[in-house]
Amino acid sequence: MFCRRCYYNLRGTEGEKCPECGLWFDPQIPLSFSQYSIAPWRVAILKLLSIFSTWWVSLAAAIVFGLLAVFLEKPFHRIVFGICAILNLYNFFTISLRGSSLKKALQDARAGKLE
Ligand SMILES: [Zn+2]
Repeated sequence: MFCRRCYYNLRGTEGEKCPECGLWFDPQIPLSFSQYSIAPWRVAILKLLSIFSTWWVSLAAAIVFGLLAVFLEKPFHRIVFGICAILNLYNFFTISLRGSSLKKALQDARAGKLE
């Protein structure tokens, strides 16, 4: 629970005004406060980017780039797409093991760890 104007952490705050900027809020009305400690446009960008940082998108891209690297004729194209395939494969494994860093950023924003 954060202030909609200044993103002050309102958890444990008594009263119905933000201690930082004085904006009114009601813990019973979700629209009167923000779920995230960052601006809505930053939340939207993180959500949009996190769609592209899922393991299945990385795996699909690695397969497509890998096939291009195998079947294209020009050596330069094979090298470029080969590198893309390897990078996406690396991304796939790191996301599978550690989870998406963008999803973690959203969780941090909800917990108030991100400013
Ligand atoms: Zn405030």
